[in-house]
Amino acid sequence: WMKHRDAANSKELYRLIEPYLRRNCARVGRKLRFMEVCGTHSVAFSKTGVRDLLAPYVELISGPGCPVCVTDQQDIDQMIAYAGQKDVIVATFGDMLCVPGSRSTLERERAKGADVRVVNSASQAVRLAEEFPSRDVVFLGVGFETTAPGVALTLKEAALKGLRNYYVYSAHKRTPPALDSLLSDESHRLDGFILPGHVSVIIGRNGWSHLEKRNVPAVIGGFDPMDLLLSIGILTRDLERKRRTVRNLYPRVVTQEGSRTAQQLLSQCFEVIDAPWRGFGSLQQSGYALHRNYAAYDASIHIEAAVSMPTVIKGCRCGEIVKGKESPFDCKLFGKACTPVQPLGPCMVSSEGTCSTYFRYERTK
Ligand code: SF4
Repeated sequence: WMKHRDAANSKELYRLIEPYLRRNCARVGRKLRFMEVCGTHSVAFSKTGVRDLLAPYVELISGPGCPVCVTDQQDIDQMIAYAGQKDVIVATFGDMLCVPGSRSTLERERAKGADVRVVNSASQAVRLAEEFPSRDVVFLGVGFETTAPGVALTLKEAALKGLRNYYVYSAHKRTPPALDSLLSDESHRLDGFILPGHVSVIIGRNGWSHLEKRNVPAVIGGFDPMDLLLSIGILTRDLERKRRTVRNLYPRVVTQEGSRTAQQLLSQCFEVIDAPWRGFGSLQQSGYALHRNYAAYDASIHIEAAVSMPTVIKGCRCGEIVKGKESPFDCKLFGKACTPVQPLGPCMVSSEGTCSTYFRYERTK
């Protein structure tokens, strides 16, 4: 199949893979259930039509790969609370603006006069801190292993420049503990994982070695239709084997060790902690808090902003959707009260959220 990847087109590759799919479905007596962990893969499967092509044999389940979606409600509320503080500028990536907190959103706070600024990179938040020395700039750190190294660089830069008004609220997350949690749930029958390509660039194939102890088929795959089909083909073939290993089908960007530079930045600037995830609750060793050496830049220590008990959005199923236990079609609000124009939950806000992807590509089928 690897050999055919570049020579064939996707229909030809599918024809080669189909006997494996058929045989394995007959063996287990149902469709195969593979989880695409990353939101970019969810979009790619829908957008390219590969999800439809595989539908007779494979149920593709979208997983916890959208950082905005897995951010706990209490963290969202805390971020929104910063926006209400005097002399505070909140700097955030655009996908956080409309995420509903218990009582408000960053966008609504901005409309009421809060200084909330959208930045394209964390380093722009450092520029804001330099530009407005009499105000405190709080950067909202939301993202996985891919995003956190860039934020780590800003901490180093702020320290080097002696900035005293730059802060980070870190809700960064590590992906592997979420997969462990899913595999520990015996009611959640998963036959294999398509692992997130971008996270794998940072943590390498070695970062997933815990999956091998569980003997679960897993592939690190790319995003074009041939990559997607190849991932499914290899997962299906591995299902027939006794010993399953994590396969790197994306060697053009993912190495065995990952990025040493990024890993060093992470370990120098962050400490791994137990962290709360939407839907999952607290997961051990799944979050990045600021390292004690950078405590001076920790918004959670230095910027006061009280929040009350978080309340969940009534009827929203995002907590189950990020675990792949329900699909957007299970939510009564999907496409009615909740749309990308008027999102009620984070899975509809983020362009990589499962509800948003299903609204754009799966709703009318
Ligand atoms: Fe939440 Fe909207 Fe998705 Fe329903 S459709 S789960 S309300 S984001």
